[in-house]
Amino acid sequence: MKPLVHHLHDYLKGRCTPDEVFQVETIGRLLDADYSGAMTYGEIMRHGDFGLGTFSGLDGEMAAVDGKFYRFGPDGTGKPVDPASQAPFAVVKHFNTDITIKLDGPCDLETVQATIDQNLPERDALCAVKISACFEDLQFRVMRRQSDGTDLDTASQSQAEFHEKGLDGVLVGFRFPGDSAPVGVPGYHLHLIIEDGRLGGHCHGAVLRDITIEIDDTDHLHLAADDGMTRLTAGMSADDRARLDRVERERRT
Ligand SMILES: [Zn+2]
Repeated sequence: MKPLVHHLHDYLKGRCTPDEVFQVETIGRLLDADYSGAMTYGEIMRHGDFGLGTFSGLDGEMAAVDGKFYRFGPDGTGKPVDPASQAPFAVVKHFNTDITIKLDGPCDLETVQATIDQNLPERDALCAVKISACFEDLQFRVMRRQSDGTDLDTASQSQAEFHEKGLDGVLVGFRFPGDSAPVGVPGYHLHLIIEDGRLGGHCHGAVLRDITIEIDDTDHLHLAADDGMTRLTAGMSADDRARLDRVERERRT
């Protein structure tokens, strides 16, 4: 088990490694209601072919797989990401499968996550995960554009929510160590892509079958945030932790 700070080695040295997770800004910055763009997606695409994120003003959800970057809007449908658009928060990686696990299911998302946890090379590891499956039941959300200063909790109350059944698709995202807040989301953060971007968003829950899990484990987090180290060492208040949990894990209606 390795604390998140140990993964930040390469950021401190200011160089990139081929197997790194590349993150733009922090969840703490979103909790501070700063949704301004920090990097263009054109730049972010150079650091990975896989990942998740959001857009300036929290205007939609980003999910990427196999080099295809999608922007999902409040009707749940996806369009290719405009490289000139900007991210206030994004996490990407060049995805290389290290471990493959197949499950027949049906089982819920928590069971899939527990299976991944049991198969990690190291307890509480940082890794990228790709989960391809038939979704018997699926709940996801898309954030709507927010004006500056609206807190994340209030912002999430206006999110568009979706409940679908019987769709094939893929979940893309990351598992961060338990001590990652307020830099990253501790545990799993997964976005959804259905049929080449026909539908997608931030996944809240699912029942899956015919499941293929691919794990890309890594030792390196490249954090492109000037205040990342300060935030990591400052930690997170219990109140912020509760807010983050509400925003990332819960349906609001
Ligand atoms: Zn998300």
